[in-house]
Amino acid sequence: MPQHPGEEDKPCRACSDFKTWSKLQGSKSKKPIIPPKPVVEGHKDCPLDKDELGRSTWGLLHTMASYFPEKPNNCQTEDVVQFFNIFAKFYPCEPCALDFQEDIKENPPKACTRDELAKWLCDRHNTVNKKLGKPLFDCSKVHERWRDGWADGSCD
Ligand SMILES: Cc1cc2nc3c(=O)[nH]c(=O)nc-3n(C[C@H](O)[C@H](O)[C@H](O)COP(=O)(O)OP(=O)(O)OC[C@H]3O[C@@H](n4cnc5c(N)ncnc54)[C@H](O)[C@@H]3O)c2cc1C
Repeated sequence: MPQHPGEEDKPCRACSDFKTWSKLQGSKSKKPIIPPKPVVEGHKDCPLDKDELGRSTWGLLHTMASYFPEKPNNCQTEDVVQFFNIFAKFYPCEPCALDFQEDIKENPPKACTRDELAKWLCDRHNTVNKKLGKPLFDCSKVHERWRDGWADGSCD
């Protein structure tokens, strides 16, 4: 999926899972002249594919929401709303970003309290989960998952 003019022939790693990306890459690239370096186990440090990017991004966004002030002032509310609107424009997986832009147009960010923001974001993530056929997350547990740890103490 091209992201910018001139990049039409480059497969977008941040828009594909690793398997798909490798296939696309394989069909375009020439045989390597230099053999690849051996991979040191547990230390790959490669660019993120769509799923790695998604997992890391959701981690940051939900953690931000769960640490957002419980009772933000007007300025904090406005800033975080603006953050999500801008985030949606620059998320590096273009098809994901376009759908997310549509979703937040229909469901604009709500951030009058921490709980409201965390619930709004959980719902947005569930919209993506639904689209991908994944199980929906119980949004009443969002702070356990992202801030406090599970009530059974398994994260302590
Ligand atoms: C804004 C955005 C849009 C995306 N759009 C697409 C897309 O259009 N197509 C595509 O293929 N991929 C998309 N992705 C990536 C996709 O959502 C997943 O991140 C990716 O498929 C990896 O999924 P995963 O099963 O590892 O868990 P993820 O969905 O990444 O979730 C990570 C963890 O978050 C927790 N979690 C799950 N659901 C919720 C929730 N509702 N609220 C709070 N916590 C939750 C769970 O503990 C889970 O293990 C998008 C990612 C982002 C950030």
